[in-house]
Formats: sequence, C-alpha cells, structure tokens
Amino acid sequence: MDRNSLKTNSINLSEESELNWTKVQSSFEKSFGSEVYTSWLKNISLQNEYNHYVVLGVPTRFFRDWITSRYADKILTEIQKYKISINRIEFKIIEKDKAEDQTLSLSSAKSKITEMKESILNYNRLNQKLSFDNFVVGRSNKISYLSAKKICSQLSLYNPLFIYGGVGLGKTHLMNAIGLELSSNNNVMFISAERFMYQFIKSIKKNEMVSFKDFFRKANVFIIDDIQFIRGKEGLQEEFFHTFNSLFEKSSQIIISSDRPPNKLDRVQDRIKSRLSGGLVVDIGQPDYDLKLNILKKKIEEFQQSFQEYPNLSDEVIEYIAKDTRSNIRELIGVFNRIVAFSKMNNRKLNINDCKIILKDAYNSTKVISIDKIQNVTSNFFSINLEEMLSQRRSRPLARPRQIAMYLAKKLTTRSLPEIGRKFANRDHTTVIHAVKTIDRLSKNNAEMKKNIEEIRSLILSE
Ligand code: ADP
Ligand code: MG
Repeated sequence: MDRNSLKTNSINLSEESELNWTKVQSSFEKSFGSEVYTSWLKNISLQNEYNHYVVLGVPTRFFRDWITSRYADKILTEIQKYKISINRIEFKIIEKDKAEDQTLSLSSAKSKITEMKESILNYNRLNQKLSFDNFVVGRSNKISYLSAKKICSQLSLYNPLFIYGGVGLGKTHLMNAIGLELSSNNNVMFISAERFMYQFIKSIKKNEMVSFKDFFRKANVFIIDDIQFIRGKEGLQEEFFHTFNSLFEKSSQIIISSDRPPNKLDRVQDRIKSRLSGGLVVDIGQPDYDLKLNILKKKIEEFQQSFQEYPNLSDEVIEYIAKDTRSNIRELIGVFNRIVAFSKMNNRKLNINDCKIILKDAYNSTKVISIDKIQNVTSNFFSINLEEMLSQRRSRPLARPRQIAMYLAKKLTTRSLPEIGRKFANRDHTTVIHAVKTIDRLSKNNAEMKKNIEEIRSLILSE
C-alpha cells in the first residue's frame, strides 16, 4: 500500500516523508559550491516543516537578508528536490545560545508558555517588504489591487473580501499589504489556513480551545490566506465557520485568499461557501508581458537599493525573461534572481542563450504538475469530454483514458493514491492502484499504448 494512504484520514500535517536535512545540506554544498556553502548555507538549520513550507533558522538578521536576496530561490529549488510540495521558505532568527538553552529546558512548563506565546506572535508576522508600494499593478491584478486598497480606506465596505487566483500571482503579497496598511490602527490577525489548523489541533490537544477562540476572535481585521486548505477537513471547517460568524457579527473586516473561487471549493460545506461569497469576490489572473516587464524593473530597482550596484542585465535579456509565457510572478522573480546570480558569478553580461539555459533549468526543476492538468490534457488528447472521462461509465473509450490519466497522476505528481482517487470523482485508492498496474502492463506490451502515453506525457510537460 502507498505509504501516504495510511495517513490521509488522520490529522497529519506532513503528507510526505520528512526532509532529511543532512542530505539537503550536502546537496547545497554540491550546487552552490563549497565557498558559498561554508560561509552561508552551512549555518542554516531546519526548524519546522509543514506541508507547503519550511521554517529555517539563521543566526542573524543580516544573514537572513543576505540569504533571502541572493539564494532563497535556489534554496527552495534544492529543497523541492527532496519534497516537491514545499513552495515557500520562512526564515527565523535563532541566536545560538538561546537555541541551545531552549532545547535544554524544553520540558519545563515555563518555556512551554513562552513557546506558545511566541508561536501565536508568529501568526501575526507581517513581511515589511510585501507592501502596496512594491506591488506592481497591471491588467491582471488591477481589480484585486483596487479592492484591497478600498478595503483599507473603508473597512467593512465589502465583507468578506475574497481574492482568488493561481499560484505565485501575488495573493499573499496583497493580503500582507492590507495587513501592513491597517496594522497601525487596528488589531490585525494575518494567518494562513494551514497555520490556523496547526494551532487549532495544538489547542485541542493541550485543552486550550478557549484561549484559541478568544485569540482569533478579538481581531477586528482577520486575514486568512489559502483558505482552500480547509477542503475536506470537517473539524477545521466547523471551527472556521464559528470564527467567521463571530467576527462578522461584530463587523470585523475579513479578507480571504484562495486558489479558486468560492463555488469551486469542493469538499467545503455549502454554508461556508455562501459565507465566503457574500461580500466581494475578485480574481488575479496570469500576468501579461507589460506587467512582467514592470515587475522586473521594480526588482532591478530594489536590487540597486539593497546592494548599491546595478545588476548586469541588458534590456534585451530583461525583455526576453518577460516574454517567457510559462511563468507566474514567483517564478519570474526566481528566474531574475538566478540570472543576476549567474551573471555575478561569471562576472559578465549574459546573452539570450545563457538565459535560455537558465530558464530551461528553472522550469525543469520547479515545475509542479497538477492532476487537473493531467486530466485536461488526457481528455483533450482522446477528444473526449472531461466530465465523461471522470464519470462512472465503464465503456472502454472512456475507461482507458481515465486509467491513463490516473497512471500519469501517479507518475508525474507527488499526490498519494487516495488523493488521486478523490480527484477522479471520489474513487477509491484501490481503483487507482488497479489503473496504474493495468497501464504499466499495457504500455510494456502494446506499442500504441506506449506511444500515446509518451505523447501525453510530453504534452503535459511542455505546456
Ligand atoms: P501567491 O500567494 O498568489 O501564490 P505571492 O503573493 O506569494 O503569490 O507572490 C509570489 C511572489 O511574487 C512574491 O515574491 C511576491 O512579492 C511577488 N509578486 C506577486 N505579484 C506581484 C506584483 N504585482 N508586484 C510585485 N511583486 C509581486
Ligand atoms: Mg500565497
């Protein structure tokens, strides 16, 4: 049985196996070279590991700023080689003596209280860099941006404000910007749904639900990021619903982000969906060329301010990066950082060809393939309707493509068998196992099957 299938029903924050930090460290050494490694990366420790992000410990503020501006993107890429679901890194400053002290006295009641307070403070940590000032506005994010600004000048005008869009398009940035703007005059609570759950479970275990409730309900601005995380988690939805209602009743402003619109949040209770769409729902779309170009210009400006030097990039190269249509904004910035680092290392201006190589490399290593995409490409390939492909009908022209899509979902993503089953109209994981075995066998013995699978695979990977 797939190792993940055992875990999906229990409340477990890590879907995959835990990171082996020693291994990650040794791959840092390989890919960054021993000089960068010994002066910087060696001093990073793994503090906490969650589903989609890790908290890394660094010794000083300066150290953190330096690493963030130079290496964060590549560090993430290296970590993703070991755990693909990680899409964000947070740094935490750990003074060495304190860190040792903490482990020594961890069992004492006193330090437990401090730990809880600190972890609660951590929710509210707003990133000073993600402000409205450095949010570049373009066609795809204008409405969201204006709505966010409007909320700040007129609380409760739209309640809740619901911002949705794909990964890396600026949702967290906007939420954070709202938090920063409002934090001077309000009690702002900014938390990801994942952390909300983490704290929720911790409070249940420690019998601290009363303070949990009080804590969240005293905010008058409640910002919750990535609400799609509550899908399928009944207990969490229940708690969220009550938190939402009690905040709403006292007219606290609620701001929510999600990777999809409220009505597309499957496995979320209807009453919650209707609450979520009861205010203003806006979306952030894929950036166009102009927006990407302006973001790159902004990044150059920021680089110049931080390092008092101009990154060695020609206009031609900047335009080339902006033209790449594969990228979201997070990846665009990642590519920018790589190109700047590469040009610095080699001490020369890069040409288009260098960029091509860097871009190719970037996408090969960071591309995350979704099951939705696999389903779409597969049903298109066989010219069948996606709904029919997912339906319960067993005729071969539908069943084979369905099995192929399940097979590819297993091969190309890190999703567990039960998760894949759920994405295929709630099928059982044993159905997925059967599909994987069947297609494995057929593709060995049947040339046409083999060819089809190769073609679909490359369509998925090339898009
Ligand atoms: P999401 O939450 O939608 O996945 P993020 O808000 O984390 O995306 O954005 C990813 C990265 O792109 C962040 O570094 C963010 O600062 C940057 N970014 C996104 N949109 C913009 C923008 N319009 N202007 C400047 N930076 C942006
Ligand atoms: Mg986000």
